[in-house]
Amino acid sequence: MPLSANNPDRKSWLHVDKNSDFPIQNIPFGVFLTRDDIITIGTRIGDTAIDLGALHQLGYFEGIALTDDIFLQDTLNDFIADGRKTWRAVRNRIAEIFDSENTRLKNNVKHKEIVLFRLDEIEMQLPVQIGDYTDFYSSIEHATNVGTMFRDPDNALLPNWLHIPVGYHGRSSSIVPSGIPVHRPQGQTLPTGAAEPVFGPSKLIDFELEMAFITTDANDLGEPIPVEEAEEYIFGLVLLNDWSARDIQKWEYVPLGPFLAKNFASSISPWIITLDALEPYRVEGPKTIKPQLDYLQYKGKKSFDINLEVSIQPKGAKESVVSKSNFKYMYWNMAQQLAHHTVNGCPVNSGDMMGSGTISGPTPDSYGSMLELTWKGEKPIKMKDGSERKFINDNDTVIMRGFCEKDGTRIGFGEVSTKLLPVYSKK
Ligand code: MN
Repeated sequence: MPLSANNPDRKSWLHVDKNSDFPIQNIPFGVFLTRDDIITIGTRIGDTAIDLGALHQLGYFEGIALTDDIFLQDTLNDFIADGRKTWRAVRNRIAEIFDSENTRLKNNVKHKEIVLFRLDEIEMQLPVQIGDYTDFYSSIEHATNVGTMFRDPDNALLPNWLHIPVGYHGRSSSIVPSGIPVHRPQGQTLPTGAAEPVFGPSKLIDFELEMAFITTDANDLGEPIPVEEAEEYIFGLVLLNDWSARDIQKWEYVPLGPFLAKNFASSISPWIITLDALEPYRVEGPKTIKPQLDYLQYKGKKSFDINLEVSIQPKGAKESVVSKSNFKYMYWNMAQQLAHHTVNGCPVNSGDMMGSGTISGPTPDSYGSMLELTWKGEKPIKMKDGSERKFINDNDTVIMRGFCEKDGTRIGFGEVSTKLLPVYSKK
């Protein structure tokens, strides 16, 4: 099926600002609560949210094999499980409905009243019920920086890193959409020089700049997904802030890896940008340093040129950009990650989420965490309001944004914006 929704020449009859992340070529999917307190699946063009449940009821998806209630749900899981052919047909149809040449909905005032919402009339929800969450560690710059700081600059990468897309199983219960604040966690840490641990608020709260992909039902128990087929099972991507408590992490991570330092919160942007929409932005990945085993070898371009940015906004002050990175820096791509994840027969389900790992670039201003940007706190960052940050302070808001741009078409992710609240206390 052709990706007619990606036609760069198409214009919409809905207003779209020049620098909008959501031109008619984007057509992301999300879940929102409407002004009438109804939850629905929707999309967005410019600053207009579109109720796909209502559009379907009004007959606009006629001819596409969809169940009646596919969009009248509080998650995208069932729609995602319908597979790539259906996602494409629906995106293509949405592009047609909102094409400036098409007057069917444009001239129907009654229908428009039911289907269209301003952004201030809706509340974005978590787009999928995430069954399983896996986080990779696929940026060579990040792994090298962390290895240099905590182990040995001469052997920063562990021996397995150039052979395996290293990852761990995370926790999905604490994944929240943009706008939901999170509390500074408490936990065990080992103060410098101390022999015994103490309990208290984490002093080193950090963000991790990541992207995450959402999968469809991919395989049966025991069945590996070949690397060349892997992208067929990727519905789309979101921005991910994988909140981390560095002092808790340092004490707890030996020998089984991240635990409470990572699972207190992970924040995602609410619109899933489909892999189809990102098609024009494919680029070559980094050169492989060591030969990779056959099941990880791929052909073609499987990396994506996505500009990423992180800001910190102190309470009542302007935001300061602290990092600019790019998704294309990832050493291991999504297809390799999914092939590796399933090579032992581990099943992947509709709505599973796979984090890329912190996306650090080659230069110090492109690092994807405060740990690296301030080099363990040794080089604090100056904010616009004159204050300094080594890590994230209470009541700071961390904002991540991402977009692709080529030949005048910009496809963006919007943002994931999260305020860090002080330690939880029962009222
Ligand atoms: Mn992470």
